[in-house]
Amino acid sequence: MNVQADPRFAGIVPFSSKIWLASPTMHGGEQKYVEEALRTNWVSTVGANIREAEAAIERKTGRKYAVALSTGTAALHLAVRLCGEKLYGRPKAGHGALEGRRVFCSDMTFGATVNPVAYEGGEAVLIDTEYDTWNMDPAALEKAFALYPEVRLIVVAHLYGTPGKIGEIRAIAGKHGALIVEDAAESFGAAYKGVQTGMFGTESVTSFNGNKIVTGSSGGMLLTDTEEDANRVRKWAAQSRENAPWYQHEELGYNYRMSNIVAGVLRGQLPYLEEHIARKKAVYERYRDGLKGLPVSMNPFDGENSTPNYWLSCMLLDRSAMCRQVRGERESLYRSEPGKSCPEEILAALAAFNAEGRPIWKPMHMQPVYRMNPFVTAGGDGRVAHIAGNGDDVGMDIFDRGLCLPSDNKMTPGDQDIIIQIIRSCFD
Ligand SMILES: *Cc1c(COP(=O)(O)O)cnc(C)c1O
Repeated sequence: MNVQADPRFAGIVPFSSKIWLASPTMHGGEQKYVEEALRTNWVSTVGANIREAEAAIERKTGRKYAVALSTGTAALHLAVRLCGEKLYGRPKAGHGALEGRRVFCSDMTFGATVNPVAYEGGEAVLIDTEYDTWNMDPAALEKAFALYPEVRLIVVAHLYGTPGKIGEIRAIAGKHGALIVEDAAESFGAAYKGVQTGMFGTESVTSFNGNKIVTGSSGGMLLTDTEEDANRVRKWAAQSRENAPWYQHEELGYNYRMSNIVAGVLRGQLPYLEEHIARKKAVYERYRDGLKGLPVSMNPFDGENSTPNYWLSCMLLDRSAMCRQVRGERESLYRSEPGKSCPEEILAALAAFNAEGRPIWKPMHMQPVYRMNPFVTAGGDGRVAHIAGNGDDVGMDIFDRGLCLPSDNKMTPGDQDIIIQIIRSCFD
């Protein structure tokens, strides 16, 4: 986008240092714990930082056992494997735990939510999204059980730090005897009816990847209720080594442990969780107020029942305010129109001024890798997969009209005013 030549942006000066979507925010305490690990030679996958970080996560979420792992994705993989074994028994030697099984999964989410089902040989049945919180639609889930009554596992995410309709989803799961893997990677610190996300799954997962609400530079945790489950996960994550003089393997193993260095960064970050949430909330509210009068709305949440962590501030354009925008698999086109805009134009304008936004997570049913998977919506007969524009496909609609705004903790109110001005100018 040539913003110099575009009179709508006259007088706006590009940011001299980039405004990020969500970058790590260090406070100093991280260094102390990392240095301690280095000084005492505890730099591998055992050590005080790991134990302390696990204990802190247990205290914060209220979950009995937290197991530190290398990534949120690794934690999701082992959570899915554990549920698979609980439901269907120990897999054949050398095989996945979900072979030939269908699993209901959030559709509009990061690929990491859904991929572990395929790692275990299962087939993800993708469940459409609702407009109230942008998470899995309980009505579509109910419909999916009518279509696939044999399913016993649900993988559900809380997107952008906003708790989904997890009470309803748990009730539906209970009715059908299904287990839940809860992906709380983006929602650490967010609560539903006063209970922390991470408490709602049979197994739950959180992530401490670099752009999350708090970070270990990387890392994730699996949250569970029994010592037996926690120990199984610990064993699997350490290559499933049996108690024998040699490397004895009776089950598939993984190298998924967290390092004590990573845990040091995380341990130093955890005291700042509430501060990060407060800053993110202020960012969200400044956008909400600053964008008033435009034909847009913010990513919604259930203010009565849930407390988000406001990880990312997102925006949805009214359909009537959309200029023409076409997205192919890897590139896009749009045409500016007076009084209208679209996510691609706004993202291009932000980038031209050195600020980072992002499209909404492209729904899994629109991804080539999952194109042949079943997709269930709440409307119609539930089988409307891949028919664009029929009004039933909520995920496709939010992807089309939505975007993630720069939501960095360290953005100043002044920076944010300029971003709001850029967005407003797109609608001139
Ligand atoms: C970040 C994220 C993950 C994966 O976490 P990593 O630690 O990056 O592996 C999983 N699910 C969702 C929804 C995420 O945003």
